[in-house]
Amino acid sequence: MCNPYRKQIQPISSRQKDKIVSILILLGITLALGCSGSTEDRTRTDTGIPQKTTLRYFGAAGWEILSTSSPDGDSIVVLVDPYLTRAKYASPETWDPNDSRPTYSRDDTIFSDVDLIDSEIAKADYILIHHAHPDHIMDAPYIAKKTGAVVIGHETAINIMRAYDVPDSQLITVRGGEDYQFNKMSVRVIPSLHSPLGDKRYYQSGTVDKEVSRPLKISQLVEGGSLMFLVRIGGEVILTMGSMNFIEREIEGLRPTIALVGAAPSHLEIQNYTMRLMEGLGFPPVVIVTHADNYRTPYGTPMAKVREDWALPFVDEVRQASPATVVIVPEHLKVIDLSSIERF
Ligand SMILES: [Zn+2]
Repeated sequence: MCNPYRKQIQPISSRQKDKIVSILILLGITLALGCSGSTEDRTRTDTGIPQKTTLRYFGAAGWEILSTSSPDGDSIVVLVDPYLTRAKYASPETWDPNDSRPTYSRDDTIFSDVDLIDSEIAKADYILIHHAHPDHIMDAPYIAKKTGAVVIGHETAINIMRAYDVPDSQLITVRGGEDYQFNKMSVRVIPSLHSPLGDKRYYQSGTVDKEVSRPLKISQLVEGGSLMFLVRIGGEVILTMGSMNFIEREIEGLRPTIALVGAAPSHLEIQNYTMRLMEGLGFPPVVIVTHADNYRTPYGTPMAKVREDWALPFVDEVRQASPATVVIVPEHLKVIDLSSIERF
């Protein structure tokens, strides 16, 4: 049985560790015993109509959440920080020497890879933006204009959309704390913090104002504040993270059935990151690793994958903090059918 109040860390055996590593390598996922995700949040979305919900990972903190009702086949698509262009900017040490695409400096403008986006994204109803750095927001204006999706983000994110002529009717500005009901889904906006980059020296106070005009340089795409989202859709409660940080009091009591958790090494700058997160979220039945790939390399290349040297230690951390949680390491663009995840 699942005890949501357990706090003891249980040591992981070498046999368990071997199993995790081998399944990760073969399938890209690890499965373990899970506990029930029944929550008040979950029942609020229960329409009684059978729904299939899938996730697809775009890299960085980018996701597609697709929920399809049966038998009518109606679908709703929520994109989270959809960034597919994966341009070579900043941090040259992360660039693939075999990647012949152009490189960009902070004074340059990145233009979206529209052919790639068109091949992967046909429909979107909502786009959620965690913060306004390029790897989160750069492709959102093109996708919003192409699909007509409503963009939900803070003031800086929304002003960037305005600069690219996304109409006001498609823009919802939030500051954190909102809990909005939409057709067939709801979104709670959670105040958060950016990753503690640069040995905790990272700090950005800049914003983008309403008068900014396109095209924006990389240097103009500033954080503007950080958010998380709790998306209730298709009977699932999906928590999204865009960074390796959180505000403990803001996540306490949330009970996601699926938690997309930032796993890049900067999370190690945070005191007891994984345990505090698991406890605050009530030991979620499923954790999916996010923001642990090299998003400056093209899809399908060896350097582009979710980094095993980052993901595997993080999987261990989750297993120790919450042994019953199913942990999944995603592969780019592969569909994860949430109904196929064994959890109880
Ligand atoms: Zn950022």
